[in-house]
Amino acid sequence: MLFSTVCWYRDPHGLPWIEYLHTGASKIWYGVAANQEEKLCAALKKIVPDFVKDSAIWLPSDTAMVPPTELVREGVRVCRVVQDPGQFVVVFPGAFTSSICKGYLISESAFFARPQYFDRAVASFKALHDCCEPSMFSLDRLVLSVVSDPRATLDGLLRARELVLQVVEKEKRLRSQLVDIGLETSERLSTPDSHRKKKNRFIEDEEENMCEVCRQNLYVALVTNSQEEAVYCLEHALLFLSKNPSHLEFCKLMYTYSLSELDSAIKQMDERIHAKSGSKKSPYSKKAKSREHLDSFSSTSSSNL
Ligand SMILES: [Zn+2]
Repeated sequence: MLFSTVCWYRDPHGLPWIEYLHTGASKIWYGVAANQEEKLCAALKKIVPDFVKDSAIWLPSDTAMVPPTELVREGVRVCRVVQDPGQFVVVFPGAFTSSICKGYLISESAFFARPQYFDRAVASFKALHDCCEPSMFSLDRLVLSVVSDPRATLDGLLRARELVLQVVEKEKRLRSQLVDIGLETSERLSTPDSHRKKKNRFIEDEEENMCEVCRQNLYVALVTNSQEEAVYCLEHALLFLSKNPSHLEFCKLMYTYSLSELDSAIKQMDERIHAKSGSKKSPYSKKAKSREHLDSFSSTSSSNL
């Protein structure tokens, strides 16, 4: 749209993103680097106190539109760049941006991640969960996809490994707790392809697989409640059913992976790591550990740049 303006925004998943301006007018970007976060927060608390939350995600998306000059007046370092057609803008993870279009234009943006993303993804998703902010994708799905993707690099697999182990541990613990409180029925969640053959309203649209409470995008497993027409993540299903045991008869655990399939995923991942490392040693070997150490060092160096 003409002169469309974007609120101050930071990707809550901790991803970097890239935007390409195909054609039309120029776009003015304002940016605040991640290391200015404290100052930006203090300035916005002063300028728009009602929009600043007292939580990890202190500025929810699409809420605050503040002129950059006011931020500069409060001591925030703001950079400015004019993007012309044919040019890319890359936004680093953790950076805040705001922009205004100088006229009609067509642009396209994409989020992306390097293997190092896995090192900070858990913290970003925990913040989304704790703040009940919606996630645009499932981190569990991403790490499980890496495990089964033959194109995954050794670096990506090693970094995804810890997260896969956490996913499996969490699934085992929560599913067992749900059984303990009396949840008896379960069913395999149809994939989008099989859904076309077999109607299941809970997966009609992937966006509908969102926890009623924390709004997280669910993939590995979820609990449906036919009485309330609601979907919960396993944590919130446990809380809900503990308080409302009469709903147990309407609830069902829906899963994409059975527990034995999750165990197989770990086995498959370790075999891939073993094959790609070209070593007969296990992924826990000294070589793998020293490589992880080097990678985390290079990740720190590049973020300092
Ligand atoms: Zn939830």
